[in-house]
Amino acid sequence: MHKSVCRSALISSSFLLLLLSCEEGLRENPAGEKAREDPVIAAVNYPLAYFAKRLADGFATVLFDIPAGQDPAFWEPSDQQVTSIQKADLILLNGANYAKWTATRTLPYEATVVTSSSFENQLIRLKDSISHKHKKGSESHSHEGLAFTTWLDLKQASAQASAVALALTEQFPRHKTTLMNRLQDLQKDLKALDVAMKAAASKLRPATVITSHPVYHYWSRAYDLVTPSLLWEPGNEITPQDMAALANIRKTHPDARVFIWESTPLGRNVELLREAGLISIVISPCANQPAEGDFLSVMRNNIAALEASGN
Ligand SMILES: [Zn+2]
Repeated sequence: MHKSVCRSALISSSFLLLLLSCEEGLRENPAGEKAREDPVIAAVNYPLAYFAKRLADGFATVLFDIPAGQDPAFWEPSDQQVTSIQKADLILLNGANYAKWTATRTLPYEATVVTSSSFENQLIRLKDSISHKHKKGSESHSHEGLAFTTWLDLKQASAQASAVALALTEQFPRHKTTLMNRLQDLQKDLKALDVAMKAAASKLRPATVITSHPVYHYWSRAYDLVTPSLLWEPGNEITPQDMAALANIRKTHPDARVFIWESTPLGRNVELLREAGLISIVISPCANQPAEGDFLSVMRNNIAALEASGN
């Protein structure tokens, strides 16, 4: 149908204008697979990019190029990067106010999918007490509003993977069978991780686990752990004020003996905590692409670290 409209545009004097409106029409077409030879799926974080890659491998390209070492939640894209994302056939959002840049830039409504919408009534609202800013180099960011590390609850990750698959099925109906088979495989992997995470966490209970950064809300809810939080960065040396904040937490949680970092901390930090009677382990949220492995292997490493600390 669109094709014939375009053909008549060729003989029209206002050819360019009509051609533009044809393109508009194609972009809004739910069966958008005809619109482009190599469709692009943009994702705001690595877990969603990983899900999209597994599901759409071979018939769409995943756009996710946030530099290593940056947190996609607070990443600021350039105008050019925003333009590339706006042009994508599908834009996968995390929801829960993730990727702060999306609040101030316009994204095409018909291409946008909020992958956490099936559990939006279970999103965690942060209390005032943990809404504060802290510095990392020259940048600062605040933790307030909704907790956003939704996928560390691997059941929620699975729901987000389903939302990606559903959106892809609508966009690429002829790949429906492939998509459903791949979703089944992906969900099997996520389910195995969820079961293993649950088993590893159960060994730590009822002891408190202290976390370095407020990104573990869904994780602690899913795996039934008490996880008071500091605002530390693994690459910043622990200061005397930091130690005072830790001592404050330990007053109310004297049973804590495991301390969680987002990535490998400075050796000096591990040493300081060891002297204070705490074992350091890494539970990586894996928000950005890992230097090695993929989403599954990072989660397996998280589970192994948790297991080892519970022994
Ligand atoms: Zn932070």
